[in-house]
Parts: sequence; structure tokens; C-alpha cells
Amino acid sequence: MSEGTATCTTCPRHCVIAPGTLGACHARTNQGGMVVPAGYDHVTSLAVDPIEKKPIARWKSGSTVLSLGSYGCNLRCPWCQNHGISQVGEGDVPWRSISPQELVGLARRLNSEDSRMVGVAYTYNEPLVRWEYVRDCGELVHEAGLANVLVSAGCVMPEVVREVAPLIDAANIDLKAFRSESYRMLGGDLATVQETIRLLAAMPTCHLEVTTLVVPGVNDTHAEIGDLAAWLASVDSQIVLHISRFFPNWRMRDRGPTPVSRVYELADVARQHLCHVYTGNC
Ligand code: SF4
Repeated sequence: MSEGTATCTTCPRHCVIAPGTLGACHARTNQGGMVVPAGYDHVTSLAVDPIEKKPIARWKSGSTVLSLGSYGCNLRCPWCQNHGISQVGEGDVPWRSISPQELVGLARRLNSEDSRMVGVAYTYNEPLVRWEYVRDCGELVHEAGLANVLVSAGCVMPEVVREVAPLIDAANIDLKAFRSESYRMLGGDLATVQETIRLLAAMPTCHLEVTTLVVPGVNDTHAEIGDLAAWLASVDSQIVLHISRFFPNWRMRDRGPTPVSRVYELADVARQHLCHVYTGNC
């Protein structure tokens, strides 16, 4: 390693970062030999969303959550619907700083105006590339008597999951495929995501749902979705699975949307293993 570099241990990429430069996610930097979040409290998107939009189907139905995102991601899914924030850095997108204290103040106010607004969702881009912000906000959100919702691809090291898991009341983790080679194409690692799912499923305080976007030619076989659902069921057959329809986006425009009939078929395959399977985008 060259002098002054530091290795980031947040995700399996383990970027070696030179001082003042960024890791592959555009969200972590080397400050004095320490890897820290770049743009710790930078927020690009802020909205009150229905919980069903996360998607979370079986936890506090009818509620809303103050949802926020930043920029950056450690994965490179060519179909990303949020590539305008996930695949860019600080200089490429408008942002504003929102400290954990400000965020919780806003959440408290929204909750006092409408009690259906139950908490804060960390979402839109990958929140765990700045897990320290999720942790710091999450602690204050709980002190305020509100809930934390995590929407993540889950491709971070177990130490990171253990830091935030006790603060998370509901999570939706993207399980993008069930083949290691597919994850390698995205810059991720299947085994790491599986461990995240196992850790969250083992938390009695965390309601867990999983989403799989069915992409034609990538993960749309009965065999793959069957394997995926059987594995989830081996963790806990009560885990909710969303089988979701792909639409062409960003760098994947060479194929059409997933046929609706295929989504329904694959949901039936998953139902052979899991108690709660939903279809999305159909
Ligand atoms: S979180 Fe970012 S900087 Fe750290 S290893 Fe992953 S891609 Fe690299």
C-alpha cells in the first residue's frame, strides 16, 4: 500500500483510498489516514412517502415515513432507477446538509401534525455507505419515540450491519439475484448480502422484507427464483418477498419490461417456499 492510503472496510470492495480521494461509492474518503463518510449529512432527496412505497407491505400499513437519500452507491446495477443520485458524487447533483438533529426535529414536527407519519426511512441511494449518519440519526429518532426504516442493497460487511441493526424497526433489503456471477457483474457479493439478511432476520426488533427485481435474461428463471425463495425460507419462512417487474432504464435498454405473466409465475414459484409473496410494478 502506498503511503497515507487507508482501506475502507464498509463493503466487500475494500477500496484502498489515497488521502483526499473517494472510494468507488463516491461516499467515503480518507481523512488523515481514517476512512470517513464524504458528505456525512448531504441530502439530495427528502419526501414523505407511504410505507408501501419502500416497499414494506406488512408493517404499519397506511403509515408514512420521512424518506431521505444522498448520493453514491457501492453497486453498479445497469438498470438503476435512481442512477441520477446513486452513480454520482458531490459535484454532480444538488444537495443540502441536514444534521441528525435537524432531521429529527423535522420528523417530530411532521409526526405532531399527522400521527400516521411514524418515522424516518433511509432510502433512494445506498444509505449504508454512510452508515454513521444512519446510526446517528437512528439513535435520535428512537429517543424521539419514532421508527427507523432501512431500504438497502445490504452489500456491506457484517460489522456495519451489527452497528445499525439494533436501531432498525423495519427493513427492505434488495436481493438482486441468487447467482454469485450476477452479483459480481454488479460489483457486489451474494454471500455478503445473505449474511445481512440473516443478521436482520435474527433481530427480534426488526421487521424484514426483501425485494427481487426480475430482470429478463439475468434472474428470471424458475430455478433461480426457486433457489432464492427456498434459501429465504431456510432463514425464516415469514420473511416477506416482493417480486418486482423490471423496466428498461439507464444502461439497460436492450430488452423490454419483464412480462407481467412472468412476474406472476415467479411469485407462484416463491410461494411454494414463503408465506408472504407480493408482486410489484405490475
Ligand atoms: S463503502 Fe465505498 S469506499 Fe468503502 S469499500 Fe465500499 S465502495 Fe469502497
